[in-house]
Amino acid sequence: MKKLIVATSNPGKLQEIQDYLTDLPWELHLKPKELEIEETGTTFLENAALKASQVATALGEWAIADDSGLAVDALNGAPGLYSARYANSDQERIERLLKELGNNKNRQARFVCAIAIASPDGIIALQTEGICAGEILKTPQGIGGFGYDPIFYVPQYQQTFAQMTPEMKQKVSHRGQAFETLLPQLHQLF
Ligand code: IMP
Repeated sequence: MKKLIVATSNPGKLQEIQDYLTDLPWELHLKPKELEIEETGTTFLENAALKASQVATALGEWAIADDSGLAVDALNGAPGLYSARYANSDQERIERLLKELGNNKNRQARFVCAIAIASPDGIIALQTEGICAGEILKTPQGIGGFGYDPIFYVPQYQQTFAQMTPEMKQKVSHRGQAFETLLPQLHQLF
C-alpha cells in the first residue's frame, strides 16, 4: 500500500483527513514531531504547499497538507492566516472576534481550506481550495465542532457549523468542498 504522510503531528487532523480519503489504497501516517515546518506563506494555498513540499522532501515520501481559517469581510479578512493564533483558546478567539466586529452590520465571512499534495521530490502534484460562505452571529449557537463553529452561521442550511451533525459539516464545510474537488483528481493521479 502507498504511504502518504499527513503534514501534521495532530492525530485528530490525521483522523479527519482519513475520513475524507476512505476509498484510497493509501496508508496515512503522521509526520514526525521533530520535523517542524514554519508557516511563512502569505496565503492558505502557499502554506499548504510549503508544508506538503517540505515534509515530502525531508522524508522522501508523498505528503498531504492543509491550511485553513476564517476570513471576515468587515475585518479585511482577519483572522485569516492567524485564525489559530488569534487568542489562546477557542472561547477567547470567539470573544475577540465578536468584540472586533461589534455591531457592524456586515457579518459576511468565509471559511477557507487549502490542500496540497507533494510527490517525494517535493513537487506539488495537486492543490485545491474549498470555501464555505456564511455569516458571523452576535452570540454563539450550538455545541458541536470546534474553533469558531458556534458563531459561523450558514444561511443555506439555517444552522451554525456547531449545530450541524458531524456528517453534515463534513459535507458542507470548506474542508468538505476542498476534498470534493481533490478526490477525483487524486484517483486520476494514481
Ligand atoms: P489549521 O488549518 O490547523 O492551521 O487551523 C486554522 C484555525 O482555523 C483553527 O485553529 C481554527 O481556529 C480555525 N478553523 C479551521 N477550520 C475550522 C472549522 O471547521 N471550524 C472552526 N474553526 C476552524
